[in-house]
Amino acid sequence: CGIVGYIGKSSAPSVLINGLRRLEYRGYDSAGLAILEDGSVVVSKSPGKVASLHDKAREEWPEERFGSAHVGIAHTRWATHGPPTEANAHPHLDQSGDVALVHNGIIENYRPLRSRLEAKGHHFYSDTDTEVLSHLIGDVYSGDLFQAVCDALSQVEGTFGIAAISSKEPGRIITARRGSPIVIGVGDGETIVASDASAIISHTRQVIYLEDNDIAVVTAEGVEIKDLNQVPVTRELAELGFDA
Ligand code: GLU
Repeated sequence: CGIVGYIGKSSAPSVLINGLRRLEYRGYDSAGLAILEDGSVVVSKSPGKVASLHDKAREEWPEERFGSAHVGIAHTRWATHGPPTEANAHPHLDQSGDVALVHNGIIENYRPLRSRLEAKGHHFYSDTDTEVLSHLIGDVYSGDLFQAVCDALSQVEGTFGIAAISSKEPGRIITARRGSPIVIGVGDGETIVASDASAIISHTRQVIYLEDNDIAVVTAEGVEIKDLNQVPVTRELAELGFDA
């Protein structure tokens, strides 16, 4: 339902939770976030409100984590595959635990993909179509998250707006869309990915809207966009109006 990703100088958990609050008006049943810290992915998820997620993260996580984490992704889920439980909330990890993914939309062919991955020894902890995509990205990963997301998406049928991070590549967020909006806010030394400009407006008014089948490498310094065949594409920088 709602996606926020952040990379920059500020506290990623704080920016992500504030961004999720801006997306609450769209409706959702659970929420979660993942950040990168000292070479690992750390996740917190909760059924119910963003306020519950905030309380849970504050309770579970050491105070320093809020200041020291500068990369992360977050999600408000509107369940399509599996009930609104903590296990089904996003982000979902791959088998290794190095890759975290948030996803809006539906992976139509998740069943055959899941069976194939289970036959290779993958274990799934949720009922979601999304977890299959996170495992698929991990399965094809060989040192380049952008490449892995491209390869995984070429095997997927359905709709998606996604954001993914890897503990192996802490300086980037990979985001892509097909049939589900993604907008990228380009700030001064920070970049914000979201499904809706309302999560970006308090940071910057300079935005880029992805088009279907675009996939972007997002860093604190900017954005590089290609199509799923890895041909570079140019997307205009737009200015958000005051009513966004
Ligand atoms: N299909 C995914 C799920 O059920 C994503 C739902 C959404 O768009 O929030 O987890």
